[in-house]
Amino acid sequence: MRSWSIPVGRLFGVDVRVHFTFFVLPLFIFWTEYAAHQGSANGPRDLALVGIILACVAAHEAAHMLAARRFGLIPKAVILLPLTGVALYDESRIEKAPSAVEPWKRDIRLALVGPLISLALGFLSATAVTLSGHGAELWKWPFVQSAKLSCSLVWANFYIAIFNLMPAYPLDGGRVVRALFTRRLDLSSATRRAVSISNAIAMVLMLAGLFSDSWLTMVGVIVFSAAQLEERALVFQSVLDNVRLEEVMLTDFATLSPADTLEDALEKAVHSLQDDFPVVRGSDMVGVISKQRILDALRAEGNGYVQAVMNKIFEVSLRQDSLGSAFRKLTARNSSIIPVVEDQRLIGIVTLQNLMHSMALLAESRKLRRDEAES
Ligand SMILES: [Zn+2]
Repeated sequence: MRSWSIPVGRLFGVDVRVHFTFFVLPLFIFWTEYAAHQGSANGPRDLALVGIILACVAAHEAAHMLAARRFGLIPKAVILLPLTGVALYDESRIEKAPSAVEPWKRDIRLALVGPLISLALGFLSATAVTLSGHGAELWKWPFVQSAKLSCSLVWANFYIAIFNLMPAYPLDGGRVVRALFTRRLDLSSATRRAVSISNAIAMVLMLAGLFSDSWLTMVGVIVFSAAQLEERALVFQSVLDNVRLEEVMLTDFATLSPADTLEDALEKAVHSLQDDFPVVRGSDMVGVISKQRILDALRAEGNGYVQAVMNKIFEVSLRQDSLGSAFRKLTARNSSIIPVVEDQRLIGIVTLQNLMHSMALLAESRKLRRDEAES
């Protein structure tokens, strides 16, 4: 899900990642500058310009995150694109406290705070540039260029503010549009409608760029990439919430007995695709153990019994529990297997391995079904 981006650090306790389009930007700047000055592009200054744009986007996103925090929303990661960012939320960490503000009003406020901060930073830096006596340079075209970095700082903030106000989801303007849709539609239909508007805008921009300024094409690509990121996160979330464990659990699996010796257990494990095993006495679940744990115990202490090294503290789920709840249990306990029980009886297992695999499959089949329904 996080493909096309790399981690660069943490900001206010949130993972910050940079999207691949950001690495296209230096090349793009270099190329347009090169074309503009007939071969006098300046590498270090071009990189500084990229740094300035990245900092302006980071400031814009930080404004969103700090505002979101006040509503109890904490993103788990934010992906920076050249003119915008996409925050990914971890639903399990959202406190569902009844808020005094209606969700759609909250979303509109959260969306608008970013462009407001960018505008404020733009005016602030414009004042600084004017006070330093370079006010006239502010109005020399092109506004953003590596030859005048302080003016670029001013205009980068203004461009970011204006760009993000476009009604193209997931840009802030598009978020306002989606918030208005959610007054009548559920969240996923509202998002889908906002994404289709966004894709249309991206298409127009990309085409327009071919016949005029190539920056428009770049902007179209950014809008399109951002919408793609959000849509994928949404499909993932709806799979987590709507799929029951009985749909994905493994019902054909190997178990171990607490009385098995570790060598016997390893022998069984070798002949199974499973990495994790439920330990069962009669029809009772008494523990879980992984192939790795068996190996480690054998290496450290030699042969012994499964009983002695199995993990006796484990969480169980019911067949109607959601995939999301199983996922949270797995990650919270840092375990890799969840037994699914019914009337104290083991009826299936969910492992991290099979969860990842089935989620990818389910997301794909849902997308296919939806595309069919729409066409
Ligand atoms: Zn924004």
